[in-house]
Amino acid sequence: MNQQPEKEIPVTRKRRAKLPPWLKTILPADNTFSHTEKVLTDLGLETICSSANCPNRGQCWSRGTATVLILGRICTRNCKFCSVNAGRPQPPDETEPARLAQMAMQLKLKYMVITSVNRDDLPDGGAAHFRDCINEVRRQCPDMKFEILTPDFRNCQEKAIEILRECLPFVFAHNVETVPSLYKKARAGGNYLRSLNLLKMARDKLGDIQTKSSIMLGLGEQDNEVEQVLRDLRAAGCERITIGQYLKPSKNSLEVVEYITPEKFEWWKQKAAELGFSWIMSSPFARSSFFAEQENPL
Ligand code: SF4
Repeated sequence: MNQQPEKEIPVTRKRRAKLPPWLKTILPADNTFSHTEKVLTDLGLETICSSANCPNRGQCWSRGTATVLILGRICTRNCKFCSVNAGRPQPPDETEPARLAQMAMQLKLKYMVITSVNRDDLPDGGAAHFRDCINEVRRQCPDMKFEILTPDFRNCQEKAIEILRECLPFVFAHNVETVPSLYKKARAGGNYLRSLNLLKMARDKLGDIQTKSSIMLGLGEQDNEVEQVLRDLRAAGCERITIGQYLKPSKNSLEVVEYITPEKFEWWKQKAAELGFSWIMSSPFARSSFFAEQENPL
């Protein structure tokens, strides 16, 4: 029997001290960027774009989009891939939903991505505040589509999903971030199975929504581990995936172990498509909220 030669996996992993050329970016400072920045500053809103030192800030803010970070700027966990400060947060700010609605109107948004810090101090993990934000923006901008990127609601998944049924977003996202073998090093407060469980619960209980997750490459994971994560996400009913390069966001964050080539990201895109994901973004700069509003991502 003639055997087809197996498709070759691109040589992907280049260990370099310096940033490879495909990861160099320039921060544009056009009028739309300045307008976005001013709206956010005037309304006193936090964004994950700034808190996480996202490399796409120039591009996104120049397009008049930003991902708002609700429930404060202090996180109750201390993940080593993230630059958001850890500590004891303030109670939820009741004025935040109205300020989000102002942002939506002033930036003329049609698609809004909302994320939050972990709020393990709150009995509902912050779910009611997500709901209040969505419902207030929806009241003022009835055609808005929402994507929420939530924490794992460690001790209150059922309660949180029940609350989120009162504000159904278009996309429910929760990021697994990395492969399970690296959780201890990168995401000590997280639990891989708990994250999968949340995605499955959202898929099963939130009706006609899409679920989405994201994984960073370059922390030292193996290809077979990444493939298994993709398979696990599909088994949990996840339709949307972003696969991007981990970049050290602050001096105390984990070092980059590998820079993955654009060719290898393309290879992962094909793999994700084979596994049945319907919305895939796989590139060095892919992030959970990057071009989230596009039906056919880059
Ligand atoms: S990719 Fe997301 S977090 Fe990064 S700048 Fe764009 S909207 Fe903000």
